[in-house]
Amino acid sequence: MPEILLRNADAILTMDDNRQELAGADLLICDGQIARIGQGLTTDGEVHDLGGCVVTPGLVNTHHHLYQTLTRAVPAGQDALLFGWLQTLYPIWARFGPDEMFTSAQIGLAELAMSGCTLSSDHLYLYPNGSRLDDTIAAAAGVGLRFHPTRGAMSIGESDGGLPPDTLVEAEAGILNDMIRVVDAFHDPSEGSMCRVGLAPCSPFSVSRDLMRNAALLARDKGVMLHTHLAENDEDILYSESQFGCRPGQYAEELGWTGPDVWHAHCVKLDGAEIDLFSRSRTGVAHCPCSNCRLGSGIAPVRAMRDNGVRVGLGVDGSASNDSGNLMAEARQAMLLQRVANGADAMSAREALEIATRGGADVLNRPDCGRLMPGKRADIAVWDTRGVECAGSWDPAALLLAGPVHVKHLFVEGRQVVRDGNIATFDLPRAIERQNRLALALQG
Ligand SMILES: [Zn+2]
Repeated sequence: MPEILLRNADAILTMDDNRQELAGADLLICDGQIARIGQGLTTDGEVHDLGGCVVTPGLVNTHHHLYQTLTRAVPAGQDALLFGWLQTLYPIWARFGPDEMFTSAQIGLAELAMSGCTLSSDHLYLYPNGSRLDDTIAAAAGVGLRFHPTRGAMSIGESDGGLPPDTLVEAEAGILNDMIRVVDAFHDPSEGSMCRVGLAPCSPFSVSRDLMRNAALLARDKGVMLHTHLAENDEDILYSESQFGCRPGQYAEELGWTGPDVWHAHCVKLDGAEIDLFSRSRTGVAHCPCSNCRLGSGIAPVRAMRDNGVRVGLGVDGSASNDSGNLMAEARQAMLLQRVANGADAMSAREALEIATRGGADVLNRPDCGRLMPGKRADIAVWDTRGVECAGSWDPAALLLAGPVHVKHLFVEGRQVVRDGNIATFDLPRAIERQNRLALALQG
């Protein structure tokens, strides 16, 4: 692969171990990695002049349900709380198939890419009408993002006292077999990996205790990560206390769902003891501020988590509860929400950017991503700061305080995914047409 030189950026916010910020600096990409960062670098390869631009590590999305880009702004779900919202959407999702899964993932990943994201996880926990995790993995390979899909699952349907309709749940033996299949087929543990698979029963209220425990055993056997929803809102806590006789943190711990290979989405309602548990066990958290606002779930105690050493990344969450998938906007929302809860000095713009980059990479156990340093992967977001959104700004912190919220260029593993604000890897306008056709058919 020819070298690529990013020249003369106004600022490079490296998020390296010293959080260095370099003015008027260059960055050289070689073979998918960052070769050098400094001044006066040269190459025989491709050169991008980045005068007027700020460079950051690619953002990392630690929680999403990409398939939900086909159910944004569904009227009956617009103002509902979590459980009612799910019951509105389940029958619509039950009509999805492989085409819906592929196209919605393409759209969601393109949207993320344009907002600076280079690495995304995805939590796919329903497989109607022949859908497979393979559909989203194919979409990610086409878009060119680094991808951590998780094989989710639901096994407790309405007739067993669960929330989802029986048509959307699967038998637990089949779930475990398919988990083994997708890990064996797609999981690449190597440094620089473009695809790592995780195991992710949907939530403690949609699978059995046995499946939670067996998924944990299988994940440890295969050396892959575990992910689920936890302590999302008050209903969630009440369910845990009435069904399991304990708080969600304790339930997770008992079933083997804590540790450096586990990350939980939301954690809005973690109490002090659970925060301490997550810190001691190195368990990660995917903070999803927009979704928490949209569903009225509350404000996650991110300040307390960070102060106690809990690893926190950001997630846009599914597009049925955000409904946007803009990760830079999510970082701004994370910053604002901690200020609502704890005061104007509760989270700086730079800390929010850190959570969105190296914070998320650390949650996903990707120390090779999320920071700009020689030897790390060339996952890089370039922001043009000459536009109207940040005209008059004094500092690169404007990226979070003002804008822009879309990148000029995006590189993943040294490959250009966004060029001059447009997706460079596939025909996005055609995919949008297909997505809108599918959404219309679902309404009929
Ligand atoms: Zn979610």
